[in-house]
Amino acid sequence: MIDQDVIERTLGTALRTGADFAEIYAEDKRNTSVGLDDGRVEQVTSGRDRGAGIRVIKGETTGFAHTSDLSETGLAAAASAAAEAASRGGGGVRTVALTPAERRAVNEVQQYPETIGKTAKVELLQRIDAAARAAGTEIVQVSAGYADSRKRVLVANSDGLLAVDDIARILARVNVVASGDTGMQTGYQSMGRTIGWEVFDPASELFVDVEELARDAARQALVKLTARPAPSGSMPVVIKNGSGAVLFHEACGHGLEADHIQKGASVYAGKVGELVASPLVTLVDDGTMAGEWGTLAIDDEGHPTQRNVLIQDGVLTDYMWDHIRARKEGRGPSGNGRRQSYMHLPMVRMTNTIVLDGHDEPDDIVANTERGVYVAELGGGSVNTASGDFVFGMREAYLIEDGRITEPLREGNLIGNGPQVLRDIDMLGNDFMMGNPGTCGKDGQGVPVGDGQPTLRVKQMTIGGTAS
Ligand SMILES: [Zn+2]
Repeated sequence: MIDQDVIERTLGTALRTGADFAEIYAEDKRNTSVGLDDGRVEQVTSGRDRGAGIRVIKGETTGFAHTSDLSETGLAAAASAAAEAASRGGGGVRTVALTPAERRAVNEVQQYPETIGKTAKVELLQRIDAAARAAGTEIVQVSAGYADSRKRVLVANSDGLLAVDDIARILARVNVVASGDTGMQTGYQSMGRTIGWEVFDPASELFVDVEELARDAARQALVKLTARPAPSGSMPVVIKNGSGAVLFHEACGHGLEADHIQKGASVYAGKVGELVASPLVTLVDDGTMAGEWGTLAIDDEGHPTQRNVLIQDGVLTDYMWDHIRARKEGRGPSGNGRRQSYMHLPMVRMTNTIVLDGHDEPDDIVANTERGVYVAELGGGSVNTASGDFVFGMREAYLIEDGRITEPLREGNLIGNGPQVLRDIDMLGNDFMMGNPGTCGKDGQGVPVGDGQPTLRVKQMTIGGTAS
């Protein structure tokens, strides 16, 4: 993307005012999206965005400038601006000799999405549409979306780091509306992978069957046509594998980000080594999982992503770090420095946040629950990331009576506190599964994240239902 000698000279310019640290993050991103609404192609868009962000740190001051001009002149202008912003004095010349890191491929991409024609992408959505409609005559509305991107990234800094990556991402989603006695009911499913178009090839190891996805969204909507309003009260809640880990991302994970810790905006501050969860729980942030939505070879500060154990057997072991905070603490980075684009500064972010398997059979978890709620899919919610207090909707839920899943429920909320939920997990399944792809929106910057968890039981949670 940029010649090494140009990068070295640009870093030299960035360091001219005597900075402690300078960094170039450059990217070249192409993306396509297609929407299908009630069988009509609503929009096809594609774009290309390229540019570089230059960060200069002196003492406690950070200067940042970005440019869409990747020529040496453009980079030099941004470097000077960032250096100027970081410092008013200093001086002297520092040169940087870069050591290119070998590219680490966590996902071997076979078919980059930009090599696939628009027609194939529309056809994919038409298959989704047809599969959802075939699920029943009550299906009255289907909308499907597809998006892909390819991003080439280069990161270099004054420590001599030079790393590159080449990332392909594919996302598909389907919304279904069914109409019946209980009015209109909705279903939703989505898939997202950090991999190429081969994800739709049944022979591929990471194959996703989009028609199955569509049928599942339709099934959700149809089930709710016969659902009764959820009860209210405090009761055991069983969360199906892969369907509720967004709760742990939002209501626990953010509290384990080192920037929140340092600001004192987390219940987990100062608690390393303490029991903060049920001893059944091991919580991991893993950026290396093959093909997953939150997976990256390197983070947006150029450091290899890792499998970071945050909570081990209930004990808080570590936080997530970006480079600058890790450096200040005299420790290695954890590969969690991420940014939305070259126009943004990096900060501490999650990748794939997962609760590891326990030993219980999922069927036994339900069989051991006399009365409670079975959440088959969490919906959207709102979360206070500092306290971990949350309210999540339940997209698909059932009553558990005498150890069996019985009637479907609708219009219920799950109300609780993330750290408390971690302590109250009293059964943990052995059926780990990843959930739907997500976009984490910390401080207005969106980045792709994944989550996953086995079937688990929380001994007590508040259900906010509408049943009288
Ligand atoms: Zn988030």
